[in-house]
Amino acid sequence: MANREETSAVGRRLETLATTLSSDYKALIAEIRKSLVLISGIAVSLEKEQQSDMVEQLDDAVLELLETSSDCTLYSHVIQAVFDGYQRPQENQLTDFNVIMESEFNQLKSDFVSVPQSDPLYRKFKESVWNVHHAGQPMPGEEQDDIVMTSTQGNLLNMKCPLTGLHVFHLGNPVRCKDCKHIYEKDAIMNYMTKNSQAKCPVAGCPKVLQVTRVVCDPMLTIEIDEARARGDETVEAQMVEDFGEGDSD
Ligand SMILES: [Zn+2]
Repeated sequence: MANREETSAVGRRLETLATTLSSDYKALIAEIRKSLVLISGIAVSLEKEQQSDMVEQLDDAVLELLETSSDCTLYSHVIQAVFDGYQRPQENQLTDFNVIMESEFNQLKSDFVSVPQSDPLYRKFKESVWNVHHAGQPMPGEEQDDIVMTSTQGNLLNMKCPLTGLHVFHLGNPVRCKDCKHIYEKDAIMNYMTKNSQAKCPVAGCPKVLQVTRVVCDPMLTIEIDEARARGDETVEAQMVEDFGEGDSD
């Protein structure tokens, strides 16, 4: 006899499991992305030494890692979907999670076409290798100016917290506004918002009105900061000195 309490205990346990597993997958994805930055660095050194067959091997490795990373994303969706759709089976029957997971995964995989070649990280990898011998020239197949422009820009919009003046590499708790994508030190921006309910983004010239719920540490932010640090974004740092602007909101 399957009673209600038993069912909800199973449900709670599954919920915990689903949360743990999906955060494990997210951690794995973050690790994969970090290792891609390292691989790019190695590929650049090899390219300088004209070791093109080894660069070729790293290229394959990057694609494989991106594929794995996209499978991880799918699995974390699958876990959530299986948990959401869980129903306690009839008496004397056992739920075969393997079967359910597999069928969910295959269904998602067929809906979700993963093309690692079109991942921005793969593009970045190709670009760093290409720039070793062809800096300033567009990559083959990407001669249009606008593509080159957006791709060479980092994802980080401002390299300095407008409130504390700290470089984003040195922020203790970086957060980002979901609307304008500007980055701040968490304590400083929270303080700034409590003082003024209609607070505008403190980055000079940014018209966005901030909302507490939309200023968050999104999962990509710390990864993007790490990536920028690993790339050694010196140009951005130099440019940042010129851009220095006091965001006076009043
Ligand atoms: Zn802004």
